[in-house]
Amino acid sequence: MKTLLLFILVLFSSQAMAQQAPLLPLVKSSIKGVNVYGKTVDNQTRCQHWHSDLDVIAIKFKCCEKYYPCFSCHEEEADHKPQVWPKAEFDTKAILCGVCGSELTIADYQASGNTCPNCTAAFNPGCSKHYHLYFETVD
Ligand SMILES: [Zn+2]
Ligand SMILES: [Zn+2]
Ligand SMILES: [Zn+2]
Repeated sequence: MKTLLLFILVLFSSQAMAQQAPLLPLVKSSIKGVNVYGKTVDNQTRCQHWHSDLDVIAIKFKCCEKYYPCFSCHEEEADHKPQVWPKAEFDTKAILCGVCGSELTIADYQASGNTCPNCTAAFNPGCSKHYHLYFETVD
């Protein structure tokens, strides 16, 4: 009798494991003690909007000095308009590598060639198309 019960239990738990974990938002994730806000889905800064292998950075917003994984996360969760970092402040640490937890300055990040200088994790090169949402650009 006991063995049968155990068998059923094992069967149940293996079925539960086989189910794909849904991408539910964490309320807040923390990477090496740095809080990341918005709709994060893991502890490497991936969010509901951007969650490929390469989406492992969060950006600190000038307006609230809080890290968010992306612009949409800030738009949906923050209660204010976003502000971009002016060029004069590009030496501010405002990029968080979700893999190793190190913080890069905006200048470091832009010069990084989409590779974390600390842990060599690859960053999404597509992010550069969205620089204007976070940083002052020349136009
Ligand atoms: Zn903000
Ligand atoms: Zn997002
Ligand atoms: Zn890193």
